[in-house]
Amino acid sequence: MTLTTGTRTTAAPATGTRPMVEVRNAHKRYGALEVLKGIDLTVDRGRIIAIIGPSGSGKSTLLRAINHLETLNDGEIFLDGVQVNAPLSGAAFERHINAVRQQMGMVFQHFNLFPHLTVAQNVTLAPMLLKGMKTAEARDLARGLLDKVGLADRMDTYPSRLSGGQKQRVAIARALAMEPKVMLFDEATSALDPELVDEVNLVMKQLAAEHMTMLIVTHEMRFAGEVADRVLFMDGGVVVEEGPPDEMFRAPRQERTRGFLRKYL
Ligand code: ADP
Ligand code: MG
Repeated sequence: MTLTTGTRTTAAPATGTRPMVEVRNAHKRYGALEVLKGIDLTVDRGRIIAIIGPSGSGKSTLLRAINHLETLNDGEIFLDGVQVNAPLSGAAFERHINAVRQQMGMVFQHFNLFPHLTVAQNVTLAPMLLKGMKTAEARDLARGLLDKVGLADRMDTYPSRLSGGQKQRVAIARALAMEPKVMLFDEATSALDPELVDEVNLVMKQLAAEHMTMLIVTHEMRFAGEVADRVLFMDGGVVVEEGPPDEMFRAPRQERTRGFLRKYL
């Protein structure tokens, strides 16, 4: 991953070297409150970026904007060279954004599983609905993905019977079912009891080993250090500092970063 700061004017390079995710000059306001004040970031294919920063710094807003759950006031977002917030309107934009969203998996702090569906049904819903996948094929897909997250034996269980860690692993399997180009994690382990954190982090590490492109908002500095290629520190709607984890954690350059990390390291 490389992070661009300042104005970026060059077009994306040829296929293959084109970034998987690119955010250019992202601005977001809620009324008078400016939450993103010109964010630039580039995530190359197969790279993992951890986003850290205090509560209210705009981390969730940034992830949600990448997925177009929030609309930017200014700036552009690209997924694999395609502009997510494309200048389209009405039905044309709806078609566009639905297609783009299918290529991004998002995992939230609260698992948002469908409580009335079984684990397998949670995983197969999107591929069946959106890709027209047949039941048997979808179930095979679900079995494979649930096996990957260690829950193949819970296919026909309802979410209410699962622990938080298990629910979050189902949420990850569900996101993977659409074969996303990027996975976005917003504090995926923050709501979990401490003893359940590792099993979810382990799944993310596995995805990292398989070269999944990931943006991970986390408060776990140790995990960020283990999994991320680069760490980005946000505060007050700007990227204060970014760098490889060993540099960021051992020798942060900015006082604001030092102040934040002091509370965690
Ligand atoms: P973080 O994830 O880093 O904690 P957020 O992106 O959730 O930060 O929030 C950044 C700021 O934007 C906070 O001050 C928050 O209160 C504000 N905010 C977030 N969503 C909304 C909203 N829908 N309406 C108004 N303010 C919001
Ligand atoms: Mg948040």
